Amino acid sequence: MTGGKIPVVGIVACLQPDMGIGFLGGLPWRLPNEMKYFRQVTSLTKDSSKKNAVIMGRKTWESIPPKFRPLPNRMNVIISRSFQDDFAHDKERSIVRSNSLANALTNLENNFQEHLERIYVIGGGEVYNQIFSITDHWLITKINALDKNAIPAMDTFLDAKKLMEAFSEQCPAQLKEFLPPKVELPETDSDQRYSQEEKDYHFEFTLYNRK
Ligand code: NDP
Repeated sequence: MTGGKIPVVGIVACLQPDMGIGFLGGLPWRLPNEMKYFRQVTSLTKDSSKKNAVIMGRKTWESIPPKFRPLPNRMNVIISRSFQDDFAHDKERSIVRSNSLANALTNLENNFQEHLERIYVIGGGEVYNQIFSITDHWLITKINALDKNAIPAMDTFLDAKKLMEAFSEQCPAQLKEFLPPKVELPETDSDQRYSQEEKDYHFEFTLYNRK
């Protein structure tokens, strides 16, 4: 499986230092500003004639409350080994059900290249950990608990070793350039990083490119 011409971007929020991403089928935190960033990044495009696709594992799809899915203004691609079809497209609801990650990507490449700006892989752990060889970029929100004694429980993790082997962090100016201009970023901090505090956490938006 190789990446094609539509850029494939992993987007994930991870708690440092262990890169925890989930607990009991949900997120270990509730950070509305981080969610807003995710919504804007995956919904907005630089070319207004195009949309983005979001690919997710069946468990991540099920973790989205029914009233919020499909995620609006994006082509929602759900993968499950139990689905019958390579690529079943419900155009009206902008939902695709695919029986493999490879089939989902191949069909998007072959049939939607003119309509899609980026393919965002939005989780969860099982899906992220299969895509290090095909992603062109990663957008990683690095979260830190303000109180190091109040780390939330986590049972799902991003494979940090695989990320570090093949990708390197870019400077904040590169992140800004990468994102559609309408994505709202916080003011840069004293280190010129796009970071902010919310509730019991501090987080920073980062971009990783393939080395
Ligand atoms: P996933 O969301 O990765 O879903 C796994 C399921 O996807 C599998 O059981 C299978 O479905 C299907 N699947 C995976 N790979 C393939 C493939 N190659 N072909 C076909 N189907 C495939 O589950 P996880 O449990 O790993 O992750 C969910 C957790 O991640 C939750 O806690 C969620 O909140 C968290 N999360 C965190 C994010 C963050 O940014 N922090 C973002 C997204 C999720 P089936 O069993 O039906 O065959």
